[in-house]
Amino acid sequence: MSKTLTVGIIGGGIGGVALARALLQAGIEVRLFEKAAAFGEVGAGIQMTPNAVKVLQALGLKEGLEKIAFLPQALVGRNWKTAQENFRTPLAGECPRLYGAPFYHVHRADLHALLASDLPADITQFNTGCVGVEQRGDKAAALFEDGSEFEADLIVGADGVRSTVRGALFGAEAPNFTGKMCYRAVVPFEHMPDFVSPDSSFWMGPRAHVVTYYVRCGAAVNIVAVTETSNWVEESWSVPSSREELLGVFSGWHENVIKLFERTDTVFKWGLFDRDPMKTWSVGHVTLLGDAAHPMLPFLSQGAAMAIEDAFVLAKALAAKGHDIPAALAAYEGERLPRTSRVQLESRERGKTYHKQSRFAQFKRDLSYKIKGLFNPHASGIQASWVYAYNATDFDPNRVKTAA
Ligand SMILES: Cc1cc2nc3c(=O)[nH]c(=O)nc-3n(C[C@H](O)[C@H](O)[C@H](O)COP(=O)(O)OP(=O)(O)OC[C@H]3O[C@@H](n4cnc5c(N)ncnc54)[C@H](O)[C@@H]3O)c2cc1C
Repeated sequence: MSKTLTVGIIGGGIGGVALARALLQAGIEVRLFEKAAAFGEVGAGIQMTPNAVKVLQALGLKEGLEKIAFLPQALVGRNWKTAQENFRTPLAGECPRLYGAPFYHVHRADLHALLASDLPADITQFNTGCVGVEQRGDKAAALFEDGSEFEADLIVGADGVRSTVRGALFGAEAPNFTGKMCYRAVVPFEHMPDFVSPDSSFWMGPRAHVVTYYVRCGAAVNIVAVTETSNWVEESWSVPSSREELLGVFSGWHENVIKLFERTDTVFKWGLFDRDPMKTWSVGHVTLLGDAAHPMLPFLSQGAAMAIEDAFVLAKALAAKGHDIPAALAAYEGERLPRTSRVQLESRERGKTYHKQSRFAQFKRDLSYKIKGLFNPHASGIQASWVYAYNATDFDPNRVKTAA
């Protein structure tokens, strides 16, 4: 190959830093542009499912991940009021055997720091908000708010759910408010409390559900509490809420949920918005990755996992196709679009299942969990075996699939 390929990444979230790492590993030059003054990840937990863990291991992060993660025993579905178990999908002993890697819980800030660890400092430029992109023959340029620009063989918009790059390529499109919002909090504990089991617990109630799990090797519990509402305007991590508001909305829930909520200090809330899958992510020498390409509801816990898979596949496609950017992007989209579209659509469906309102609908759902679980616990519960079994590191850029 003649000259080294250069890629400009817009956005230093989980997808952006994962891509920087994967590209450097493949010997490709990278520059990362982040509009914030520093890398700053929100205080929240994240489930790293086996499909994402396989990629993190291939990026050289196996030991680092083990040091920051919590290994949950099972995914457990519980009744919101009685705590009765409706499904139990074993994880700790089973995931390596079934899917080729463990299922972990991590703190987002720890995961971000791990992905960014030992990236050369001079590849990242902070305080650099992208305002547009321009095609320039066999290159593209990112344009920044201070009037500067950066030209590269490829520009990748990893700039999140409100992506400027996506807007520049495909026009601004308003997201749909789903009628759901969530409260998030992380509660530190000196010792693991007896009212939070060492699982990923799904408490399902009428028009609401609560997910709790340990992060930081058991030193904190992450809370995601989803409820329905008709009025919301912001799609953001940072709308402050309060313990009182959280307790008010979930009043009457099982005492273990309430005991945990009573220990919250900082609580955030977030409206949940949704977009339909796109038909393509690329125009010329610019493409999208992560939430910029396929924002999804969090009900299969896959947004960051999909961004990490995208990063690995895109880096592999570029390493194989070199300066033939259209061929690399065709391989990337061919592999990633069908999968991420399915995850987007199934995440949407899960939201409906978790929030059944009438007692009869809940009874039918829970009976179906129990029957399926008798035969195969991994076919019950959130039913994500097909998500976890995928291995992005097996991607072959020379066997191009046609994007759906
Ligand atoms: C309640 C909830 C629970 C979740 N739980 C999970 C889970 O358990 N597992 C999981 O895998 N996923 C989960 N997710 C999803 C996950 O958080 C996101 O999908 C993931 O963080 C997306 O990463 P990203 O890099 O694409 O975008 P982001 O993390 O949003 O990063 C985008 C970056 O781009 C920067 N940026 C934005 N605009 C510009 C610009 N114009 N110029 C320069 N920089 C810019 C931003 O500052 C930011 O740093 C959850 C989401 C929610 C809402």
